[in-house]
Amino acid sequence: MDVGGTSVRAGVVDERGSVLDTARVGTPSGENALDDAITGVVEELRNRHEVGAVGLAVAAFVRPDRRSVMFAPHLAWRAVPVADRIAKRVGLPVTLEHDANAAAVAEHRFGAGRGSRVAALIALGTGIGAGLLLDGTLFRGAHGVAPELGHLCVVPGGRPCSCGKYGCWERYCSGTALAATAVELLARHPGRSTVLARETAGDPGSVTGRRVAGAARDGDPIAQRAMAELAKWLGEGLALVADVYDPEIVVIAGGVSESATLFLDEAREHYAGAVTGAGHRPLARLRTAQLGDQTAIVGAATLAREEHLRR
Ligand SMILES: [Zn+2]
Repeated sequence: MDVGGTSVRAGVVDERGSVLDTARVGTPSGENALDDAITGVVEELRNRHEVGAVGLAVAAFVRPDRRSVMFAPHLAWRAVPVADRIAKRVGLPVTLEHDANAAAVAEHRFGAGRGSRVAALIALGTGIGAGLLLDGTLFRGAHGVAPELGHLCVVPGGRPCSCGKYGCWERYCSGTALAATAVELLARHPGRSTVLARETAGDPGSVTGRRVAGAARDGDPIAQRAMAELAKWLGEGLALVADVYDPEIVVIAGGVSESATLFLDEAREHYAGAVTGAGHRPLARLRTAQLGDQTAIVGAATLAREEHLRR
């Protein structure tokens, strides 16, 4: 299951990572209602399939033992033993995982990262979600909160971030960042935009990452420049990641990755130029995610299978 701020999505996933069936319900705001919604979706799918375990991918800080959610900005849970509570409700073993970690596992087992030993997943959406895998196992750090790559500082004193710091990577390289950059460029270069300015009619609030990508595809010079900025910051950030982690493959996921043809080659060039020892060391391969918007569902199910069904 992928438990997000807007919807609770579930899939029945087999051992090859194929999604056989799906169900979805809107995310309710109350805590009990959220548990009810999750239980309801599990029961709906169990009526049609034999289910052995449940994996929950959540956009949340998960405790190192992965039984409890510490905090989830868009969900009702606050220090809640989610895994045990849902397990009790549905009578099945439950695995809990951060959604970016689940996506990283899915892409490693069945997608773009297959067969890699040292892999990173960078999901570009509202912010940056990241997962690190070593020999196929998630790296979580000593206290279970790694990696927070989106909050690496790339511009000291730069754009303010919801985390309280300034200049975080995700403020320059995400769907939200793409829109912010486009808004800045539109203000600085009035009359230059051919598509975006018309579509958004002077309302900065209506500029979204998706709109910028669409306008870039249609040849809007301002949107294309915003895209080039994103490519630059993706490359710069990947160079930092490579300096610490030296991955053999980086999987670019999230909504923004659907427009990868507009920025990935350029990002690769920036990355190759910015990494320490440029030109004298092997570089990570950059790939786009292959499993689409079901990647967290597949990853959560796979982790649940590996934890509970293969003992
Ligand atoms: Zn931050």
